[in-house]
Amino acid sequence: MPNITFGPIHSRRFGISLGVDLSPYKKQCNFDCVYCELQPVKAPEPKTISNFSEVLPLDELVDSVKQSLQKYKKIDVLTITANGEPTLYPHLKEFITQIKPYIPKQTKSLILSNGSLFGDKNIQEALKEFDIVKFSLDSIVQSSFKKVDRAHKNLTIEDIKDGIRSYAKIRKNILICEILVVENINDSKQDMEMLANFLREIKVDRIDLGTIDRPPAYNVKAVSYEKLVELSRTFDGLFILLPQRKNININNLIELNDEDIINLLQKRPIATNEIENLFSKNSIKRFQKLFNNGTIKIKNTGLIDFFTL
Ligand code: SF4
Repeated sequence: MPNITFGPIHSRRFGISLGVDLSPYKKQCNFDCVYCELQPVKAPEPKTISNFSEVLPLDELVDSVKQSLQKYKKIDVLTITANGEPTLYPHLKEFITQIKPYIPKQTKSLILSNGSLFGDKNIQEALKEFDIVKFSLDSIVQSSFKKVDRAHKNLTIEDIKDGIRSYAKIRKNILICEILVVENINDSKQDMEMLANFLREIKVDRIDLGTIDRPPAYNVKAVSYEKLVELSRTFDGLFILLPQRKNININNLIELNDEDIINLLQKRPIATNEIENLFSKNSIKRFQKLFNNGTIKIKNTGLIDFFTL
């Protein structure tokens, strides 16, 4: 029997996560992203664009997840993913509907998708059943999208955008967008501005901005943490989360006075667990003081606490 569930692992963005792989036999995806950590594959033929070719039987999947949920009771999220794209699994709606009664109350269901099929009505019906839907969208400029996500030739960024927009209109659950920035491909200010405008329009709850972290399938490079901070300014007003910074150089930490903090929060909320990556110890104390005296507040959105006004 293939490994259908994995973990639990600790994720900074979602807490303790138990993973479910809907494609445990092989990679099955309609993208071939340059940053993918799985082996590169040729995009599927048009006839398989909306379905896996090797399908895990539904009863086997449900049984396996039930067993894992019984074994690991204290998890924050049940993360539905795939060795590929999970919305290509043809029984997604049946699976989430059947497994829901076995998910503990305190555990959220989460799906990680590339967003390419969000316009499909059947997939929308399945997505509605999750507590959190997280989709990736790296660029809405066709040329950059083509280079970074290397999608199946029948998928255009315009259609994908329309699909995401139509799902965003009907959803009642949490919607999170992940953007992965690759050096010299989708790292221009113009790319990010267009993306930010689209994400404002569809009112995502949270944006996770990141770059390549582990060895990718192709020879491409990550951007620096400083570049991510610079790009994050394009997303004024939105709840944006940066990755954990590695090797923090305390000499580069920014010093903010009370007025600076308020000006900053007028532009964009800052995740409470992000401030130590960015600001000096004294600045962090000022955030706390402003929170204690009610000048700024903390809002939980997309499962993360943010300082905001
Ligand atoms: S969508 Fe995900 S699984 Fe598919 S190629 Fe991109 S990173 Fe890999």
